[in-house]
Amino acid sequence: MAKKQFKAESKRLLEMMINSIYTQREIFLRELISNASDAIDKMYYKALADDKLVFNKEDYYIKVAVDKDSRTLTITDTGIGMSKDELENNLGVIAKSGSLAFKSENESKDGHNIIGQFGVGFYSAFMVADVVTVVSKAFGSDEAFKWESKGADGYTIVPCEKDTAGTEITLQIKANTEEDQYDEYLEEYRLRSIIKKYSDFIRYPIKMDVKGQRPKEGSEENELEDYQEEQTINSMVPIWRKNKNELTTEDYERFYNEKRYGFDKPLKHIHISADGAVVYKAILFIPEHTPFDYYTKEYEKGLELYSNGVLIMNKCSDLLPDYFGFVKGMVDSEDLSLNISREMLQHDRQLHLIAKNIKNKIKSQLQSLLKDEREKYETFYKSFGRQLKYGVYSDYGANKETLQDLVMFYSSTEKKLVTLDEYVSRMPEEQKYIYYASGESIERIEKLPQAEMVADKGYEILYFTDDIDEFAIKTIMQYKEKEFRSVSSGDLGIEADENDQAEEANDNDNKVLFEAMQSILTGKVKQVKASKRLKSHPVCLSTEGELSIEMEKILKAMPNSQDVQADKVLEINVNHEVFQSLKNAQAADQEKLNLYTNLLYNQALLIEGLPIQDPVQFTNDMCKVMV
Ligand code: ADP
Ligand code: MG
Repeated sequence: MAKKQFKAESKRLLEMMINSIYTQREIFLRELISNASDAIDKMYYKALADDKLVFNKEDYYIKVAVDKDSRTLTITDTGIGMSKDELENNLGVIAKSGSLAFKSENESKDGHNIIGQFGVGFYSAFMVADVVTVVSKAFGSDEAFKWESKGADGYTIVPCEKDTAGTEITLQIKANTEEDQYDEYLEEYRLRSIIKKYSDFIRYPIKMDVKGQRPKEGSEENELEDYQEEQTINSMVPIWRKNKNELTTEDYERFYNEKRYGFDKPLKHIHISADGAVVYKAILFIPEHTPFDYYTKEYEKGLELYSNGVLIMNKCSDLLPDYFGFVKGMVDSEDLSLNISREMLQHDRQLHLIAKNIKNKIKSQLQSLLKDEREKYETFYKSFGRQLKYGVYSDYGANKETLQDLVMFYSSTEKKLVTLDEYVSRMPEEQKYIYYASGESIERIEKLPQAEMVADKGYEILYFTDDIDEFAIKTIMQYKEKEFRSVSSGDLGIEADENDQAEEANDNDNKVLFEAMQSILTGKVKQVKASKRLKSHPVCLSTEGELSIEMEKILKAMPNSQDVQADKVLEINVNHEVFQSLKNAQAADQEKLNLYTNLLYNQALLIEGLPIQDPVQFTNDMCKVMV
């Protein structure tokens, strides 16, 4: 009998399983039971599609049995079974569900993470067993086969006898070693608790022979007798059918983990039991952490979709808008047909209603989180705030109304994240605009010269550090009738003495100086002028028009970027000593004016985080000033 080899990928995974340092070995039982349950589901679907087949609920169950003497654990199901080919294809190659993710960059990390993150399914049996034997008979076939493997070196398949359709998996449990105990997987109480923990909502009975003692009948001296009876271990009622009041946060967290919605703890759960225009139940989760692939193309949003307790789709993306794509969970509705196809689902009215309903529930849940559990909301926002801001911006702002009260920005005065509503409610009466400043980081924005004037006025400034921020705000346009204004924009709407002074400074003989500087900087800035916003800094750049410097940077960094240019203005602080030097240079020495103008311009670029065209020239210029 020739031994067959596992596919390379499977072999690697198997080796990892065998040498696993993973502490949660117990999940192997969850994996095998869920496979058994899937196999029974398949029988159920078959019966639905075929009138001649009757699905007798009593005939379908999963049985877990131990034999301590031979150190074996057997999991039997009455499901659809596997043919010879199926044994070969399904167990000879890595489980499809895990393979995609497994291939990714995680390869180099230790096994721990991979097992924790992805369903590795059947192979997890090798964490606790030396030998795994699968005897299976496919439904409708009269042949049975035995698949057997001792691990990474391969497997065998031979014909065998089995009366009924289904699968029987026998694990030869490993012997204890100095570090590791495997005996526990032969203990009835231990197995029962693992089943309760992970597989309680499996819809078919999971049976075990349970040993116990009871008072002997007819005996008067309280004599006890041993007995053994078959018991169903799982409660079978799915959590979403239970009453909210009967469930604890831990129950929901366990469900979240069991379903592998994430490997963090959910920040919040939403249990919906809708009885209105559409009837459905749902359990939704807001995760705490951003999944590692969340902001990539690989991430797939969606909810599990059940029809009357039967899973019909793993990731129904139509149930969630993109901007709430981080939400995990499931929906069960009696109103959906089981045999519905993907295309039909897209046009299903019920589904649209459910989706709308769910969207509103998520929004109100986030709002109350913001209101009542600020800290949690901020945690959430750090993980998914960017997604919300994208949501504001995308689809030409179609969803800005839904989302604008959920976005937050760092505030110059509060030194923490604040909402637009909070900002506006704090605005002094005379303040015209909602001010913001863009930059790479809070620390950098804090030092921006452009912000001086606004900050000096005591006005709050929102700091934009995400690429998307300014785009999102341009989409919102105004909030509670207040427009947004960048601290670098031409008109700050601030009435001040400085204004008139600057106006004057632009008027008189300085004009000649500014024009001279402007011609030195031809093609670089549109204008040179006296600044209204600078107090202690000598120069800064500002912009005219819609396009800001931050936006220019972002657009330029995009693939196939067009040559976009913000209309830049070099602003000079006429109250700064540097201004006098400029004037002196203008009067005495054209060469010097050139030098100073270029230096100041390059300094302004540096402050903005823009690249200097000729850094060598710049440093040489610096030296000229020094010697
Ligand atoms: P997954 O369940 O994610 O597909 P597994 O590694 O758990 O991955 O299982 C691989 C495949 O083996 C299953 O998809 C299924 O086709 C088959 N299989 C495993 N266990 C059984 C079983 N008890 N009855 C029928 N088929 C099974
Ligand atoms: Mg599986």
